Amino acid sequence: MEVDALLLGGGIAGLWTLDHLRRQGFRVLLAENRALGTGQTISSQGIIHGGLKYSLRGMLTPSAREIREMPLVWRECLSGQREPNLSRTLIRGHSCHLWQTSTLASQAGMLGAQLNLQVKPRPLSEAQRPEILQGTPGQVFRLDEQVLSPASLLECFLERNAPWLLKIDAEQGMEWTSTSADGAEVRLRNGDSSLRLRARCVILTAGAGNALLSRQAGHEQSMQRRPLRMVLMRGPLPVFQGHCIDGAKTRLTVTSEVLSREETVWQLGGQLAEQGAGQSEQECLQRAVAEVRATLPAIDLASVRFASYEIDRAERKSGLGLRPDTPQLLREGRTVTCWPTKLAFAPRVAELLEQMLKQELGITPTDPADWVAELSGWERPPVARSPWEEVTTWYRWEKSGLVAEPPASEPLAA
Ligand SMILES: Cc1cc2nc3c(=O)[nH]c(=O)nc-3n(C[C@H](O)[C@H](O)[C@H](O)COP(=O)(O)OP(=O)(O)OC[C@H]3O[C@@H](n4cnc5c(N)ncnc54)[C@H](O)[C@@H]3O)c2cc1C
Repeated sequence: MEVDALLLGGGIAGLWTLDHLRRQGFRVLLAENRALGTGQTISSQGIIHGGLKYSLRGMLTPSAREIREMPLVWRECLSGQREPNLSRTLIRGHSCHLWQTSTLASQAGMLGAQLNLQVKPRPLSEAQRPEILQGTPGQVFRLDEQVLSPASLLECFLERNAPWLLKIDAEQGMEWTSTSADGAEVRLRNGDSSLRLRARCVILTAGAGNALLSRQAGHEQSMQRRPLRMVLMRGPLPVFQGHCIDGAKTRLTVTSEVLSREETVWQLGGQLAEQGAGQSEQECLQRAVAEVRATLPAIDLASVRFASYEIDRAERKSGLGLRPDTPQLLREGRTVTCWPTKLAFAPRVAELLEQMLKQELGITPTDPADWVAELSGWERPPVARSPWEEVTTWYRWEKSGLVAEPPASEPLAA
């Protein structure tokens, strides 16, 4: 079988690109070796950033300029006014709150955001504040950045693109058989099923898996990892999405999803997760308790359970170990490696890849409508489970410290 492009890896970068290229008439397939979104996408906080983090530094950096267009694109897709129609995605919140600690640096950071963001934070009066932020020092702002549920976003893409998605074996599900100036020949395997493919271009959208795939294709290492330890809280918590700003940093980022009438789960990121990477689970959770008490004193922690999960951000290697802020594409012959850098950048990645296919690789769409029919018997990849469904140990907070709970007999419902 011949395709214009074979995508390897079904996180947000691969899925958005598959959907986009397919709609432009390209013959394109995506192979996934575990579950869709495994790694970063399912672990992410689902915030469609408009550049707050960059603007806090007070300058309109190129990254801030590039990302500030993204929220509008997503908003139109999420409301079904633009393709891909993602209107079945669960929206956790249509805006985030920003609140501050009382330091001077914190006030200065917020000013930068006010000046440079397209979607600007709006100050709230005392009466407009959510209950959880009553009594916090400093001003509170509302920022219209949407927060979505990554699992439901992935479900939405699976539903739209199932015929073009192939599950392959976790180990050795793809073998490069030859590469040439015209493209690559590969063999895909899933159990007893096997498929020989000629791809005019291979696009690596495998997150942390890009390192191995690119090495197998004979290319040099071009990836860096940035470890995080994210914290989870679950219990009778309010639904709340927000950033606690301290100077030019986000001290704490909270996102939440309702699990049942009694339970909401919170994901805590920001500096807490960056510093947590070098800590044990116990150390990180103790710090999380202290941070929540310091920044959100209205929260009652009595019935709350805590857990954490480790996850690496996979990024393109940059000279001095700096973090890339914009989507990164690296073309080596007819292999392109992609790192979106942010979930929010997925639409931009898809557009850049379309341009690269057409302008640099001379590939024009050749799709005869029902060419995938012959793959109808191939297994489709499922969607990855959310981090709180994977956690085995939850802790409660007592005067004596953190106490591990016996493992639940039933997995936590989504
Ligand atoms: C904790 C955390 C929070 C974040 N929060 C946000 C946020 O709020 N907003 C935001 O904009 N960005 C956020 N990000 C960044 C964002 O999640 C990532 O930039 C984005 O999800 C990366 O997507 P991806 O498709 O490149 O990779 P991934 O999501 O990692 O997906 C890679 C896919 O490739 C598959 N794969 C791996 N190896 C192979 C192989 N050999 N063959 C086939 N398939 C393979 C994997 O199973 C997986 O499905 C966050 C990141 C983290 C880690």
